[in-house]
Amino acid sequence: MDCDKCGADAVTHLAYSGLHLCGDCFSQSVEKRVRRRVREDGLLDQSATPDDPDTWVVGLSGGKDSVVLTKVLHDTFESDPRVELVGLTIHEGIEGYRDESVDACVELAADLDLRHELVTYEEEFGVRMDDVAADDPEGMAPCAYCGVFRRDLLERYADDLGADKLLTGHNLDDEAQTALMNFLEGDPKQVAKHFDASLGGFDDEGRETQDTFVPRAKPLRDVPEKEVALYAHLNDLPAHITECPHASEAYRGEIQQLLLKLEENHPGTRHSIMAGYEQLAEAAADSLRGGADDLDECDRCGAPTDNDVCRKCYLVEAVGGDPEPASPE
Ligand code: SF4
Ligand SMILES: [Zn+2]
Ligand SMILES: [Zn+2]
Repeated sequence: MDCDKCGADAVTHLAYSGLHLCGDCFSQSVEKRVRRRVREDGLLDQSATPDDPDTWVVGLSGGKDSVVLTKVLHDTFESDPRVELVGLTIHEGIEGYRDESVDACVELAADLDLRHELVTYEEEFGVRMDDVAADDPEGMAPCAYCGVFRRDLLERYADDLGADKLLTGHNLDDEAQTALMNFLEGDPKQVAKHFDASLGGFDDEGRETQDTFVPRAKPLRDVPEKEVALYAHLNDLPAHITECPHASEAYRGEIQQLLLKLEENHPGTRHSIMAGYEQLAEAAADSLRGGADDLDECDRCGAPTDNDVCRKCYLVEAVGGDPEPASPE
């Protein structure tokens, strides 16, 4: 098959658009979609200047998604002094798996000459995920602890690094799965939270970001997972692909299979889910917003919470760690 754009040999067929593309045209199409999303979300603060740039901290795990996001943003803004990119890697303490993906992050940061920070659960909380998964004092899936710890460190260190935005590498499949899970769980508040946390743009009409957190964004969310993997492969990026040995989100796995089946029979399903969901989520956020002012401060770390102690501090104590945050250097 020939590339529909330039006639060279095609390497992929995008069923939802009908296009056959060669490697170069495919890579350009991925880059174009990320740049369009950055523009449409108003990610770059128009008041940013070379002296006071917009600082974007990218959660860089070493997996294909965050590696591709970092590379595309780096190439796009390399010569634009209004944007400062920083990579932030969290080491959860997972033998083998995370050591290898940290190597991928270090390699990428060196290749791109990118500022890169590494933070570990062990230094921050005195725990390693391998031990947490083995002890499991709360009888939960490992990811239920890990997600809370990682989010805390990403937010805290992004803030410390002077981030204006915290970017993560969620792709179209991740977002469509979350959208479907939120629907199936039947909780409009969760949908509203999803919108304000990371969907919508930064213009006046967009979401309402809370002053307490660095606003998050997901510029890769228009690109399907398979295409992110193909981009990483074609561009020879140092991405780490093995799955975490503690991966345990069984429900998400079921939804993933369901969506892939739907996509196969009805190409474009993920795109249409997200197009409709984002509008509904914005409406839900508009009508359900509020309550942030009523939050108390956590007795241990001072983070905003509904309870005396926030979820992160509760869980760190439950697994025998120390929730008192080490001050970021
Ligand atoms: S799969 Fe779960 S346990 Fe493994 S790194 Fe991700 S959140 Fe943590
Ligand atoms: Zn081509
Ligand atoms: Zn706390």
